[in-house]
Amino acid sequence: MTPALRDLFSLTREDVTALMSTWGFSPVHGARLWNYLYWELVDSLGAMTELPLKVRRRLESETTLGVLPTALETDSRDGFTRKFLLTLPDARRIETVLMRFTGRVTACVSTQAGCAMGCVFCATGQMGFSRHLTPGEIVAQVAHVARALRRAGELRLRNIVLMGMGEPLHNYDATMRALEIVRDPSGLSLGADRITLSTVGVVPGILRLAEENQPLHLAVSLHAATQAERAALVPAARAWPLDTLMDACRTYSQRTGRRIFYEWTLIEGKNDSVEHAHAVGALLRGLPAQVNLIPLNPTEGYTGAPGRTESAKAFQRILGDHYELPSTVRQRRGIDIAAGCGQLAVMARNG
Ligand code: SAH
Ligand code: SF4
Repeated sequence: MTPALRDLFSLTREDVTALMSTWGFSPVHGARLWNYLYWELVDSLGAMTELPLKVRRRLESETTLGVLPTALETDSRDGFTRKFLLTLPDARRIETVLMRFTGRVTACVSTQAGCAMGCVFCATGQMGFSRHLTPGEIVAQVAHVARALRRAGELRLRNIVLMGMGEPLHNYDATMRALEIVRDPSGLSLGADRITLSTVGVVPGILRLAEENQPLHLAVSLHAATQAERAALVPAARAWPLDTLMDACRTYSQRTGRRIFYEWTLIEGKNDSVEHAHAVGALLRGLPAQVNLIPLNPTEGYTGAPGRTESAKAFQRILGDHYELPSTVRQRRGIDIAAGCGQLAVMARNG
């Protein structure tokens, strides 16, 4: 059996230097290669024409550049969102989204093909788990968005959110390695303030992030303020109950000194009432927190409807006036291209 080729997107800058040194090449070639990957954003080994032929030959025989071909690319009507359906080497599909809200360009990246957590309203949850992504497959998505922006002569990629398909803390090691690569200041340079990781509430993962003091913003998908209501929406809450999750969040904020974003998908008649707003306010009272309210994106496998604008406004008022909790309402931009996580993959599969 031929050994698997190493994906250049899975290497840190140090790994690239070490590879050149193992092969007996000058570190200058490593620096040039890194530039090709993350500064020029090339999409093939063949484009690295300034590397000496002997280096290119070695790269071609022992490595691969894991560019993910685009199966489908869709722009939302309002022009704020572009969604890419990308093909993995095993022909599975994942989604990566380029978003231009709030005046900043952000890539929304997947960490798994499918997801094992089964949240009832989520298109990715509805399709089940296929596999973890490799670090290279996560980095390749970020490079893809940066390259698309470059080609269009647009702004530089400023932020990434791990809010695409999958649960990043269920694929902890690969995700952290990918973040180390995209953070590199001489590469994509997406530092601590530019990365947001969203989790359904994988408690051991949250504690590990705190322990390692990983430089990122943490978002926790809460959606309900009681164990029973949460478990009905988020089956993972049975493994990591709400009180255990809140203890982990407290520990996280104490250890890191950082506030947490709490995500709340607003579903009409389920979790968008005045009582719900008071319940989440009481739950988060005194914690360094911000609540992000996201009206539900309808999906095929769930009958719920998005919470109304008035409910979102009332929710915000209660959180602010009674509990001094800052909150935002995320616009449902890009809804015409099914920009909720996992929805494009479902549409492509169906037809
Ligand atoms: N697995 C992680 C990250 C990916 S999901 C997590 O669950 O946090 C990113 C965010 O999108 C989560 O807050 C999730 O609850 C939300 N989401 C998923 N499906 C949605 C839908 N149909 N409408 C609105 N928000 C949704
Ligand atoms: Fe997985 Fe997040 Fe979707 Fe839940 S919301 S199924 S954790 S991707």
